[in-house]
This record gives sequence, structure tokens and C-alpha cells, in this order.
Amino acid sequence: MEKGKINVSVDNIFPLIKKFLYSDQEIFLRELISNATDATLKLKHLSSIGEAKVEYGSPIIEVKVDKEKKTLRIIDQGIGMSEEEIKKYINEVAFSGAEEFLDKYKDKAKDSGIIGHFGLGFYSAFMVAGKVEIFTKSYTDAPAVHWSCDGSPEFSLEPHDKADRGTEIVLHISEDATTYLEESTIQRLLNKYNKFMPIPIKFGTRTETLEKPEGAKEDDPAPTQEVDAIINNTNPAWTKAPADLQKEDYKNFYRELYPMQFDEPLFHIHLNVDYPFNLTGILFFPKLSNDLSMQKDRIQLYQNQVFVTDNVEGIVPEFLTMLKGVIDSPDIPLNVSRSYLQSDTSVKKITSYITRKVADKLQSLFKEDRKDFESKWNDIKVVIEYGMLTEDKFYEKAQKFALYPTTDEEFVTYEELEARIKDLHTNKDGKTVILYASNKDQQHGYIEQAKQKGYTVLLLDSPIAPHLIQKLEAELKDVQFARVDADAVENLIKKEESKVSKLDETQRTELKTLVEETVKPLGYSVQAEDLNSDSLPFMLTEPEFMRRMKDMQQTGSGGIMGMGSMPDMYNLVVNTNHPLIGEILESKTEKKRKRLVQQGVDLARLSKGILKGKELADFIARSVEMIK
Ligand code: ADP
Repeated sequence: MEKGKINVSVDNIFPLIKKFLYSDQEIFLRELISNATDATLKLKHLSSIGEAKVEYGSPIIEVKVDKEKKTLRIIDQGIGMSEEEIKKYINEVAFSGAEEFLDKYKDKAKDSGIIGHFGLGFYSAFMVAGKVEIFTKSYTDAPAVHWSCDGSPEFSLEPHDKADRGTEIVLHISEDATTYLEESTIQRLLNKYNKFMPIPIKFGTRTETLEKPEGAKEDDPAPTQEVDAIINNTNPAWTKAPADLQKEDYKNFYRELYPMQFDEPLFHIHLNVDYPFNLTGILFFPKLSNDLSMQKDRIQLYQNQVFVTDNVEGIVPEFLTMLKGVIDSPDIPLNVSRSYLQSDTSVKKITSYITRKVADKLQSLFKEDRKDFESKWNDIKVVIEYGMLTEDKFYEKAQKFALYPTTDEEFVTYEELEARIKDLHTNKDGKTVILYASNKDQQHGYIEQAKQKGYTVLLLDSPIAPHLIQKLEAELKDVQFARVDADAVENLIKKEESKVSKLDETQRTELKTLVEETVKPLGYSVQAEDLNSDSLPFMLTEPEFMRRMKDMQQTGSGGIMGMGSMPDMYNLVVNTNHPLIGEILESKTEKKRKRLVQQGVDLARLSKGILKGKELADFIARSVEMIK
């Protein structure tokens, strides 16, 4: 037997590894299985080019726990190692990797995925094991060897009689890591990290029911047999060519990825590039609700079919983190911090590639079947609107497929909207005013009014609509958005509308004084407008600008917190052309006139949802009185 001392300057590296990487302890299994997979794939390659004169067969990797012996074993049938290779790759390379890693990344070690990329993979075993053994037989004629190390820089190396090609790693699990002797823990880890690895991984057996033999009786139990339980799918959908996959295959893959979720994806995007970087993957658009907080961290990042993380921030543009699916790329550097990732040029390219692919897919769905695209709009709009807000490239591309729903459940593109409202929605300053509602129920009366006048009202009710509106106003020239209950609506010039008033000047002044007196305590400003006779007699509007400021203050955005709460500002619009106004003015007594005005004002407040408490009770009592 040979004994030796691994040449490291740190006296005992393992306590350090344990300490720094504790949060990521469980990845040791992924690292060891990755090594086993690499060793198997190398053999496959060597035998395919005739270098290895061995039968490749159908190798598997086996994971075994033995609670009594307190061991966890990982057994492969790959290329194995000779004595020289153990010395070189395990004693020298892996250790120097470990040292380098510790030197440089002491502080950043908590970033997941970092270990394997420093050749520290193998030694991560010492995070959970006090002693590690390697039994290995090279695919060449070199004799088998047994390596053993108890966590100090001292190791032993001796010949062994292992006959089969491949490597067996034995971890003697430490007292503080006994969870890794539990089948359920290992099952969970395999399922998390190795579910799609390219070599079959066996963990235990399962019972399979066979067909009954011919002539078997009705009550005879069906025969069963024990078969290897393979935990992974070695050929996940994203590794295949899109042309070889049907719609159904994508749906099944979605099931496979998210077995605990029962929704169906709306559609998928298959990513597949090999230049200037390597990236494959499948992204799914799930049905999204308006609750944005729920929907992150669901894209899984893989590196050559090994799970790395489900936190893809920095790699995928933020608006797409709401999607689900898989991205697999060997080109994403994982040994760096996230802030570095964002400035990495290859990551930038990946980001813009994904953005482009998503935009292209949306555009083609829109073109191929617009009705279908419209039916999905409400489920996907959050992603698209968020993308338009945050990625300029996406904003440009989205001009072709971004839809604006109207309150009549039509869906128009911006171009279509523009054509429709061109001359109709112009205000005094010559700007085009786009009317929108943010809540169909609350603003129902205003929507109906606007529609009667022939205006188109958009329904922008997503949580980020206010931000999108600001963005659109900044991007589009001479366009202004106004909520349907805003004062701006009254300022629209409608060509065919007669601006003739039924009232003369004296009546006008009389009306204004009367109404102003009534609303004085409420602080409303009064505006007498010559609207159509079928418009409502009294209506409350709010300056668009003030309302937006108030909204922002409520959501705490826009940096106007702490300005004190902003007062409500309403205009009371009185339609001089409504027959009721004439009637009010003709009423005999002052008392009756006041009562009618009060009733009208209260109705306007009621429809705005701001008539409450005693005022509401008074209104109801007065109404009862009036219909008696
Ligand atoms: P890395 O895998 O990043 O190179 P590791 O520390 O995990 O770093 O492994 C060091 C080296 O040891 C590997 O590159 C490989 O040559 C060898 N090795 C590790 N595990 C195996 C195995 N199961 N079969 C054959 N060789 C192995």
C-alpha cells in the first residue's frame, strides 16, 4: 500500500469546504453523479471512435444507501481510473482546484452551482462524509485501485481486485449528515438535480405487474417482478429537434417538469442555437393571473442536462422570469456573482436571443391565428406589457402583436386603434386622446356615456397598465391617455356635436350660482357644458393628472410618498342641454330647485361610488320622499 500526503498548503482543507459550502451541502450528490455521467459518456465517445476496445453496452449509474454501514455509494460503468490517473486527477487536480476555489471565492461561495466549475466536484463529498473511498478499474488493462482518505490531506492508495470496469465511490456519511442515509432524501435530490441526466440512474427497485399467463384463473394474482427503478428521463424533450416533436410531446414534457401543477401551458417556445453560443430549451407561457408576486423562479437552468438552479435572474430578461420551462447551456458562467453575470457579454447575447425568440413566436402566433391569440391575451398580457416596459427591443417588436382590448371585448392593435380614433378623439390642443377604463364595473356609467358619443374605450386593467400608459405617452407623439371618468373627456372635440346651448346667459349664471352653492361644502368646481341632451345631467370628473398622482401615491411608486395624502379633486360637469336642467330652472320655489340640484349631485357622487354614510342615508330618505 502506498501512503502519501496530498500537496496542499492549507493544512486541513475539509473543515473549510464544510464551512463555506454548508448552505449548498446537498449538491455533493449532483457532483458525484455528474462525474459518473462524464466517465460514462467519455467511454461512449472512446468506443465510438474505436479508441476503447470495449463493449459499451447500456451502462447505468447506481446509487445505493446502506443505513447499517452508514454508506452512500455511487457506482458507474464508465472509463474508470488507473493508479496514475487517481494520482493526477484526484490527488493533484482536484485538490489544486479546491485550494484555488477557497482562495478566490471564500465570500462568494454561497452562489449555487459554483463548486463543480472549479474542479472541486469530487471533494464536495467531504461535506457529508468523514471518509471517502474510491474503487476504480480503468477501461484499459491497468489494474484496479482502491483510494481512501479520511478528510485529512493524507490518503492511501493500494491495488484492488475489482474486476468490472468503472468507478465506485463510497461515502462514509458523518454523524451530522445522516439525512443522506434516508431514502427519501436521496430520492428528493435525484429528482431535483438528476431528473434529466443522459445516463440512466438506478435507485432501488420497483415492483412491476406482468400479464397473467394464459389459462390463469380469474382470482389468480397477476405475477410481478422486481425491476430497476430508473429515476431519470435520459432524453428530455428540449434535447430533441423541434421537428421531431408533436404538440402532445410538449404538453407531456410540461407535466414531467411540473408534476404537481395541473394547469395546461398556453403555448411553448423551443430554443435552439449553437452559434455564437450554445443554448437549448423550451419555454412555456403559463396562464398568468394578475398577482405578479406568485410567479417567479419557475424556469429551470441546466448545464448539459444537470440541474443548476431555478433562479434565472440575470440570465433571462426579467419579464420572462414569469414563464416556465427549461434552459440548458454550457456557456453560462456559473462561477461568478449575479451582478457580474448581468454584465457578461455572452449572457447579454443569451438574454437578447431569448427576447427575440419570444417576440418572434408571439408575432407568428398572432399572424397565424389571431382569434386564438386574442382568446389568450388576458392570460399573457402581463408578460408582454412588462416586456414592453422594460426591454426596448421587445417594445419595438411588440408593436406588431400587442393588443389593446376595448370595453366591448374587441382587441385592436395600436395601428388599428389609431385608424379608428384618428379624427374623432382630438382635443383642443390637437392631441389624440386615448380613452381607457381601468375597472369596467366602477366606471360603467362613464364608459356608456363615451360609447354613446361614438368613442372607443380601451380596457386597461392589468396591474402594470398605469406604467405602460406612461411609457406609451412618452413613446408616441401627440398622444395622451385619459381615463374615461377624467375631465379630459369633456375636452374632446366632436365634429358633429352641436355646441349650441339651450340656456341664455342669465339662465347660465343662475344655474352656476345655484349649483355652486350646493357643492360648496364639497369643494367641487362647477363646469357648465353644452353636451348632448342624452348625456347625463350631472357628472363628476377628475383631472387625469391629479388622479394619476394619487394612484401613484397609493402604490408608493414614483417617489411621491411622504407628500401627505392628496385631496380628492372633482369637477362637477352640468349638462346645460339636459331637459332636467331646464326643469330645475323652471321650478317655482327656491327650496325645490335646491332639492333637485342636491339630488342630481348625489346621483353623480353615487355613480362614482363616493356617496357614503350619513349623506347616503339622507339621499335615500330624500328619494323615498320624492317618489311617495
Ligand atoms: P471535475 O469533474 O470538475 O473535473 P472533480 O473533482 O469532480 O472535478 O473530478 C476530478 C477528476 O477526477 C475528473 O476530471 C475525472 O478525470 C476524475 N474522476 C472523478 N470521478 C470520476 C469517475 N466516476 N470516473 C472516472 N473519473 C473520475
